[in-house]
Amino acid sequence: LNVIILDPKCPAGKAFTGFIVDADTPGIQVGRKEMNMGQRCSDTRGITFEDVRIPKENVLITEGAGFKIAMGAFDNTRPPVAAGATGLAQRALDEATNYALERKTFGKAIAEHQAVSFILAEMAMKVELARMAYQRSAWEVDQGRRNTYYASIAKAFAGDIANQVATDAVQVFGGNGFNSEYPVEKLMRDAKIYQIYEGTAQIQRLIISREHFGKYKK
Ligand SMILES: Cc1cc2nc3c(=O)[nH]c(=O)nc-3n(C[C@H](O)[C@H](O)[C@H](O)COP(=O)(O)OP(=O)(O)OC[C@H]3O[C@@H](n4cnc5c(N)ncnc54)[C@H](O)[C@@H]3O)c2cc1C
Repeated sequence: LNVIILDPKCPAGKAFTGFIVDADTPGIQVGRKEMNMGQRCSDTRGITFEDVRIPKENVLITEGAGFKIAMGAFDNTRPPVAAGATGLAQRALDEATNYALERKTFGKAIAEHQAVSFILAEMAMKVELARMAYQRSAWEVDQGRRNTYYASIAKAFAGDIANQVATDAVQVFGGNGFNSEYPVEKLMRDAKIYQIYEGTAQIQRLIISREHFGKYKK
């Protein structure tokens, strides 16, 4: 799917049109693989369109409907993205918990130091709440209701806690957490993109506040 601006003076809600474009259409150039901080198995490339011609019937719905299509797609894609962020946080919690039960300092497992056990308790709280948030946002879709508010809450919350929980996991691992022989530094790198893609953490807050005020305005 591509969304192209037709008239720069048009309001955002009408300025875009969605098209289906076959990948082998003449004029499409795929750029080099980007070197990203994390999620390196995901192949990210820029795509250049030069004098690309596509048939009229490839227009989605109608001219000017692109913004609505893109926003509607986000309502469906944000819950699974939030689920991915929650999965990453769960893995970080699992790794940190197993490590804390094994690693001993001052004659006992670090899990038995209250300071460490409280880090793990807070990580668990965040993972459980992120899971409930994405499930709520997905459930709204199943009920056939517009889930924009819940999808943005789930995505923003899960993206934020994935970063907090992965960082905490590195802390529980101590110096080993900083070492690529151990799994948690990768989780910390992988977590960051969840605050950027599918709408940044800031854009989610814009949407949440707009949806929130919409419920109160008379
Ligand atoms: C590897 C990778 C894969 C991606 N895949 C996808 C994808 O599949 N789907 C997808 O939707 N996105 C994806 N993205 C995200 C997308 O490409 C953009 O990076 C993202 O939408 C932010 O736009 P920008 O990079 O131009 O940042 P900018 O828009 O320049 O923003 C820079 C900073 O300013 C903040 N900001 C900008 N405007 C406002 C505003 N109005 N109010 C408050 N704060 C604001 C942003 O939150 C951010 O912190 C991906 C990004 C990367 C790096």
